[in-house]
Amino acid sequence: MKRCYNFAAGPGTMPLEVLEQAQREFTDWQGRGLSLLEMPFTGDDFKGIMRRARTSLRRLLNIPERYHILFMAGGASAQFALVPLNLLGTAGRADYIETGHWSRRASGEAGRYCAVNVAASTSGRLPQRLRLDPGAAYCHFTSNETADGVQFHAFPACGDVPLVADMTSDFLTRPLEVEKFGLIYASAQKNIGPAGFTVVIVRDDLCDRALPATPTVFNYGRQQAAESLLNTPATFAVYLADLVFQWVIERGGLGAMAERSRTRSEQIYRIVDESDGFYRALAAPDCRSRVNICFTLAAELEPVFLAEAAAHGLINLKGHGALGGIRASLYNAMPDAGVSALAGFMQAFAAQHANAV
Ligand SMILES: *Cc1c(COP(=O)(O)O)cnc(C)c1O
Repeated sequence: MKRCYNFAAGPGTMPLEVLEQAQREFTDWQGRGLSLLEMPFTGDDFKGIMRRARTSLRRLLNIPERYHILFMAGGASAQFALVPLNLLGTAGRADYIETGHWSRRASGEAGRYCAVNVAASTSGRLPQRLRLDPGAAYCHFTSNETADGVQFHAFPACGDVPLVADMTSDFLTRPLEVEKFGLIYASAQKNIGPAGFTVVIVRDDLCDRALPATPTVFNYGRQQAAESLLNTPATFAVYLADLVFQWVIERGGLGAMAERSRTRSEQIYRIVDESDGFYRALAAPDCRSRVNICFTLAAELEPVFLAEAAAHGLINLKGHGALGGIRASLYNAMPDAGVSALAGFMQAFAAQHANAV
């Protein structure tokens, strides 16, 4: 079997052990004589998987009792609309911190439902200060800008206004104080598993203020009451997520993931910084992402870099369409050997081409 090192931003690389277990169980799950794909979502077997996934996630993130875990359809982009629909209540306005591509998409969508107060707007760095609206229903930010390679290493403070985070690309890469947030969401295909659903962690008191026009299956309170089984969930995706959560627990949990994330990203940034300008990081040093490492090199060398990397089995390194350049996504499932292979390749490539620029 030949496996490449896949640096794609999403859907991203999955743990090989999880893929292999799913393969073993694919046609006959736990001796039941049918595939998980074929199981009713209302049956005890699937409900058991859902319960275990929720319990594992609660344990991993140390999620307090008064927070609910929802498994919802529609991806993070659906949450761009569902957050305002569910949380605005009578406030009619919300704060948005814009730090890159995805937070701008979130605030753009919210603008269809409410008055958006842009509390700050930056690119390649984080805001020094926020112009917050004390009457806002919530304050939204993106913990890790997947396209721009910008990450919050400390979270914004917004007083009593509930803090809402799109954590799609750095979910499960570090421990969190969940109590600091009103709501956290993350679509699955970056660091949880397969595309097709979104994890929403929401504080109990925020589950009862959905606007009347909110679709029932996207109503946080309704899904919470139904334990995310109001309609058919993405059953196979939830099953794989459950296996991924187990995989993270077995490897030491989020403390271990954070340490790996720090050392591995430093390994690549060091090569960028020591390349004499051959590689240039997109983000300011104090907010560089430990998950999506974005950098540029001379434009004419980019296609050469991508082609040679692919020939070495290092694939999907092309930056986001809106920003260009190179992006190496180091999700939990990326093996250390993949990071070392990329580091070695980058050094050799710079040595070979430095004089040509
Ligand atoms: C990928 C991504 C999204 C979009 O996710 P979809 O599931 O495709 O809607 C939103 N926010 C962030 C931070 C992302 O990385």
